[in-house]
Amino acid sequence: MDEERSPLRQLNEKPVCKEPAEKSALSRLPVPTVKRPLPGKEQSAGQSNLRQPANKRLLDQSDDKAPPNKRKMVSASVVGFKPRPPVMSQRPAVNPVHKTSAATVAGGPSRAAMKKPVAATLKPVAPSGGTTSRRPGWDLKGKMGDMQMKVSSYQEQVRNTKTQNRELKEEAERAQRELENLREEHSALLNKMSDVQNKVTSYQEQVQTISQENQGLRERGDRAQRELEGLTLEHSALLNKMRAYEMENQELSSLKRTLEMDLSRERALSAQRLQEVRELTQSNAEQTDKLHQGEMERRALHNTLLELKGNIRVFCRVRPLLDGVQQQSSFEIQPQDKTIVLVKTEESHIGKEKELHKYPFKFDHVFPPQCSQQQVFSEISLLVQSALDGYNVCSFAYGQTGSGKTYTMEGPDVLAGEEMGMIPRAVQQIFQAACRLREQGWEYQFTASFLEIYNETIRDLLVSNKTPKKMDYEIKRASPTADIRVTNLKYIPVSSEEEVLGLIKLAKQNRSTARTQINDVSSRSHSVFQLRIEGKNSARDVSCNSILSLVDLAGSERVQKSQSTGDRLKEMKSINASLTNLGLVFSALASKDGFVPYRNSKLTYLLQDCLGGNSKTLMFVNISPEIESFNESLNSLRFASKVNECVIGTATANRK
Ligand code: ADP
Ligand code: MG
Repeated sequence: MDEERSPLRQLNEKPVCKEPAEKSALSRLPVPTVKRPLPGKEQSAGQSNLRQPANKRLLDQSDDKAPPNKRKMVSASVVGFKPRPPVMSQRPAVNPVHKTSAATVAGGPSRAAMKKPVAATLKPVAPSGGTTSRRPGWDLKGKMGDMQMKVSSYQEQVRNTKTQNRELKEEAERAQRELENLREEHSALLNKMSDVQNKVTSYQEQVQTISQENQGLRERGDRAQRELEGLTLEHSALLNKMRAYEMENQELSSLKRTLEMDLSRERALSAQRLQEVRELTQSNAEQTDKLHQGEMERRALHNTLLELKGNIRVFCRVRPLLDGVQQQSSFEIQPQDKTIVLVKTEESHIGKEKELHKYPFKFDHVFPPQCSQQQVFSEISLLVQSALDGYNVCSFAYGQTGSGKTYTMEGPDVLAGEEMGMIPRAVQQIFQAACRLREQGWEYQFTASFLEIYNETIRDLLVSNKTPKKMDYEIKRASPTADIRVTNLKYIPVSSEEEVLGLIKLAKQNRSTARTQINDVSSRSHSVFQLRIEGKNSARDVSCNSILSLVDLAGSERVQKSQSTGDRLKEMKSINASLTNLGLVFSALASKDGFVPYRNSKLTYLLQDCLGGNSKTLMFVNISPEIESFNESLNSLRFASKVNECVIGTATANRK
């Protein structure tokens, strides 16, 4: 800008140009008239004098004397401008200056050229004195003329100078305006430039962002490329697999067709089978009905059979000799195992002769000593079956101590194997039968209880703690329709044979504990095992309840009254009373007496529901084979025989 401005400054600051002005001044100076010729020398000298100062100034200011580079600089700053003739009228270029931009202002030198005529008009002032001095003193007129010429010339010059001055002022104003315009343009340009710079910066940032994005994209591209390669590999592998699958598919399709054909064949067959199944189901239902009817018929027939045999039955069992020493037998057993004859040789009344006395007894069955537990059980299993069918069943073991009652009812301590007694065998049979009947829709629930009656007091044998609390056991019927129960007694629900065997074991333990405490109480107490059976056939809306009671009675031996004292006497009386009462109950039932003395003893009261019309009773009479036991055996057989004579009324099953 400064460079651009420099020509303008030159224009303002430079003194008015002289060189061309001199030439024009010379041309404008009034030429001396021929009327006053001057001497050649003087004239030439005058001319030379006149010219001298002008020349000198011209030389001082001339461009020739100025360093050539200064001139060149000026002209160099006027780039693209041709030097114009220094004639004012020939300066139309001034106008374009206003129209053009700063570059056009650089045409300053043309103004410089314009000012040159001013200098030229001023030049003649100095030599004028010289001219006056050369006229002779007398030539006043001439001098006057010269003076007038000078005056007019100066006037002319002043006018010119004023004009020029005005023009220059205008020029300066224009230049000033241009300058202002240029400044505005300059600041506008500066603003633009800063905008552009901002844009450039933002573009640079954008470029940076884009290049970063580019970088990211390139990396992604690389990754994508790698993935693509992987996928291409996978793709080709999949293609291979697909081809394999296609082949497999074809094979499977043909297989499918074959299978479909098979399937349709199978379907037809299946429909046929389904029809058969339906027919079979129907016939099965019919068969089940028939089976149920058969079962009911069987129960009825079974009952009839037992009735024919008698609802109270007595079996006699003779224990084998224990010490193995062959002794004289006290009995004979008749053929068909129905009759036992007690034989005793006694002295006759008339002399020393010995008489053989025979006491025959007839029972439902007599088991000789060699009979196994299984053989005995087979005879009572029909009764056990009755218990499942809904009849109350009661089995007693009667006999003197040591005759084998406990052995018959429970068996020895081992609750398995050949020697198992009637109780575990009955339990086994009941659970097996219940399992079979389940197939016909029967569901059974069992409850077990085990007690002991000693001296008319009840003791629970299923109490597991070693020192049981003294409980108050009372025989009661909760309601007229309820069965007889003992208060505070444990009635334990059981669902398997093993559970019941566990309870029998516990009872045995409890009895043996008592034995050590009180001199063999077990033989002088009645033990009563009861299994309550509740059967239900929901499908046919039939149910049955019954109680299986298995009683091991106290020893029936009669102790000489004279020998019995204190507790023993009390015991004996109690045992006698309860056993006698049992006999009385049977005879009352047999004689169809209105009154049956059930309440006279705890035992008969407890077994009230199991003795009489609605029950089946079995009595084992156990006999000791030893000859010393003859009298006791005779007593037992007589008691049993009386019971056997009882015909208790027809039993009815507890069915609903
Ligand atoms: P009770 O209970 O009548 O007093 P037990 O059942 O205790 O008599 O029998 C007395 C003894 O005789 C026991 O040792 C028992 O094992 C034995 N015994 C009883 N009956 C038989 C039998 N049929 N076979 C073998 N031993 C028997
Ligand atoms: Mg016993």
